[in-house]
Amino acid sequence: MADDPVNYEVCTDAALTAAVLSEYQNGHAQLDVRRVRRVLEATFTGTCPRCQHQFSDTDRRRGLIDRFLPGRVRALGRNPESSIKSILKCSCADAHPGRPTGKFGCGFNFSLRVDV
Ligand SMILES: [Zn+2]
Ligand SMILES: [Zn+2]
Repeated sequence: MADDPVNYEVCTDAALTAAVLSEYQNGHAQLDVRRVRRVLEATFTGTCPRCQHQFSDTDRRRGLIDRFLPGRVRALGRNPESSIKSILKCSCADAHPGRPTGKFGCGFNFSLRVDV
């Protein structure tokens, strides 16, 4: 904890996103995908590569489920899509200077392909 705290800044970064991906591929982060009625929920749990804090964030995609139900998609004569893009963000509870009241995380956000 001797390190200077990371300032809050909404950002995306290719290298950090790649770090998140390898964390997941190495089994150090978890991605849980659930269907709740018409909503697809993807929850990412792992360590933020920007601030090094543990966090868990859930992306909810409403209204997408119909598009990805294989039966319906096949009925339209198309191949069902096997993945969608989920937008997730660091939502650690730790303090970051400059963060607006009521927000969590350090501002880092990223997108992951989620199998459906
Ligand atoms: Zn943090
Ligand atoms: Zn962070």
